Amino acid sequence: MVLTWEVDDGVPVAGRHYPRDLAEFNRWFRSEASAAKYLTDVRFRHGFACPRCGVEVARSNESRWWCRDCRRWFTLTTGTLLERTKVPLATWLVVAWHLVQTKIGVSALSVQRITGVNYDTAWLLLQKMRAAMNQDERKKLSGDVEFDETYVGGVELGAGGRSRGKRSPVAVACEVVSPKAMGRIRLARLPDASALAIADFLERNVEPGSVLLCDDWASYRPALSELRARGLHYTAKTTTLSKTESRAHLIHPHVHRVASLLKRWLLGTHQGAVRGQHLDAYLDEFVFRFNRRNSRNRGLIFWRLVCSLMETRAPVTNQQLRQQRSEQVVVDEAHAIRVTTRRNTNKAERRRTIRRVEAEEQGRSVRPYHRKARGEDETSP
Ligand SMILES: [Zn+2]
Repeated sequence: MVLTWEVDDGVPVAGRHYPRDLAEFNRWFRSEASAAKYLTDVRFRHGFACPRCGVEVARSNESRWWCRDCRRWFTLTTGTLLERTKVPLATWLVVAWHLVQTKIGVSALSVQRITGVNYDTAWLLLQKMRAAMNQDERKKLSGDVEFDETYVGGVELGAGGRSRGKRSPVAVACEVVSPKAMGRIRLARLPDASALAIADFLERNVEPGSVLLCDDWASYRPALSELRARGLHYTAKTTTLSKTESRAHLIHPHVHRVASLLKRWLLGTHQGAVRGQHLDAYLDEFVFRFNRRNSRNRGLIFWRLVCSLMETRAPVTNQQLRQQRSEQVVVDEAHAIRVTTRRNTNKAERRRTIRRVEAEEQGRSVRPYHRKARGEDETSP
């Protein structure tokens, strides 16, 4: 892809031209028509194709295209995050621009001030932007990867450590490039801090074969044996905190830095007003922003974000956001049941061991005791 900054007759070509500054941005997207033209270029940059069946389409009627196969019309926004939007397209571009320009991000309140839409619309618009920032398909982290959890959400005095309270556990992983430099990061809200949840996170986000650097908290070993059982092998380098003089943030400086930046960002930009169920969207935004922190070309990031906005995907409406929220609750509950079942199995196992030892001490005969696979009997502190 060639970068060209010169725009011949004042008409930018999407993918070739990127706005360099706000003045240029304003010149380019002065009208709704110019925004629509730009978004059309972005969406159909590989040719006009039906978003439902992928068949190439030629016939167009100004703002709509007719697919002969589906026998239906489609528009510029059909099947994208912008489908059925009542907000002007130019406003979407303005918000995307501001999102990539600021280092710290924007709140719904500032979107309201910039664009003049009402607060609810601004909030929904930002949630959709965050959905566009979620790039799950990106390459997994690899090499040396620091891993830890942190807790965000409500501030609970006295409930420090690893008790959950009203806060949500968030898994943090980051690539270590050198003692001072870090590579990409991943964040995800965990349903709880159990071994299963951690194993799921690592499977999704870290390439097998990587070296995991984490402190020696009890959940990590079972998490690793869970992963081994799934056929995924990682090398773990754990540091037992009590045995070293350094504090946690000195041993694993990168994850701790990411965690404190995340907390500061949530407090600063969003006044800490992130409700648990919406945390995922905010984490997506933070990761998107953080992984592009060194990119000097903000215009290129703007382009990536707009491309993602115009991708065909299941539409996200306000109603669906609510739906997703309740689905998340179901997933979390199912997870809790899995963990409880496993914990109870382990308890039963421990009780059997105690009975056996007591019986042996009293010289009674006992049923032969079968030890479980390594790692299975060491869960849940
Ligand atoms: Zn079609």
